[in-house]
Amino acid sequence: MLIGVPKEIKVHEYRVGLVPAGVRELVHHGHKVLVETNAGAGIGFDDKAYKAVGAKIAKNAAEVFDKADMIVKVKEPQPKECKMLSKGQVLFTYLHLAPDPEQTQGLIKSGATAIAYETVTDDRGALPLLAPMSEVAGRMSAHVGAFYLQKEPGGSGVLLGGVPGVQPGRVTIIGGGVSGTHAAKMAVGLGADVTIIDRSIARLRQLDDIFGGQVKTVYSTVDAIERNVVRSDLVIGAVLVPGAAAPKLVTHKMIKQMRQGSVLVDIAIDQGGCFETSKPTTHADPVYLVDGIVHYCVANMPGAVARTSTVALNNATLPFTLALADKGYRRALADDKHLMNGLNVHEGHVTYKAVSTALKLKY
Ligand code: NAD
Repeated sequence: MLIGVPKEIKVHEYRVGLVPAGVRELVHHGHKVLVETNAGAGIGFDDKAYKAVGAKIAKNAAEVFDKADMIVKVKEPQPKECKMLSKGQVLFTYLHLAPDPEQTQGLIKSGATAIAYETVTDDRGALPLLAPMSEVAGRMSAHVGAFYLQKEPGGSGVLLGGVPGVQPGRVTIIGGGVSGTHAAKMAVGLGADVTIIDRSIARLRQLDDIFGGQVKTVYSTVDAIERNVVRSDLVIGAVLVPGAAAPKLVTHKMIKQMRQGSVLVDIAIDQGGCFETSKPTTHADPVYLVDGIVHYCVANMPGAVARTSTVALNNATLPFTLALADKGYRRALADDKHLMNGLNVHEGHVTYKAVSTALKLKY
């Protein structure tokens, strides 16, 4: 099979679908890999590194999309990429279709088979291809939040860890899954006063064990969210309802009651965001103010630490990329129900229930 790796085109996106080590593995399995020139250059993987492990270098994205049987990317295809996809071609990447009708229509029109990283499952019902990026975004959210709490970028002037004699900043994390847990690890490490809110009692029990009393755990209700949000210096939104738009758990009214210069980091923005006032931002212009509250809503946070993120993502995707390449997508999907759960669009049809429900499309 010919596997194509285009350069990512979203603003400040330096991650790449395959690192040279992954290319080497595919070539070792007898496949050909075509990488767009400079696809990994921003994170230290130059064309020479790809050539050294057997890849061919394409001069532009059009050549990659034109020749490849399977495209391996990181971010969802942009409109001009959707137009380059064709029937019979496999696309393996993050899609996040539920809040994105334009991309969904683009994929439907292309006739391609689109397998989304974020809905592939594992035996524990977890999302193994979302996990590495959630780990990165979660860990980042605490230090991004700590940075924007400083006066200069618009914050309230609170040091999350406090100092002896001054109480630490309050951090509320809504959603205690992968990203929420990693956010908590970093926030605890910084010395903050951390509360995690989740709707799963089982998860709250696990968190209580993991953190051994270093965080407070609270069951998710409107009341609990309001009480904790209004008194927090930093609120991190880390909820997920798989494949569906994020629930708007924090209202504008709650946000208005926070202290001026407090910070919201909405990790769940890629699913539409869990704060009523959230709208997606980019690394070029990451924050905006609503009623004096700093909103950080970057939809591709791991892009900021692109080298770490790319290697972590490749570690998780490679077994699936190899299965798709070795067996062809039909057998690979038939053999693995977890990979099958990644199938979101196939030859002009939405094949993932939560996406069809969210966008009111035929399933
Ligand atoms: P996860 O499934 O591991 O955790 C989600 C948690 O949210 C679960 O524990 C669940 O019980 C909880 N939850 C669901 N509904 C809730 C509610 N009403 N109240 C409280 N808790 C609730 O998910 P994750 O891997 O941590 O991902 C979280 C979000 O972050 C996803 O939308 C994901 O796409 C996104 N994400 C964003 C970026 C970014 O760059 N912005 C990067 C990675 C992941």
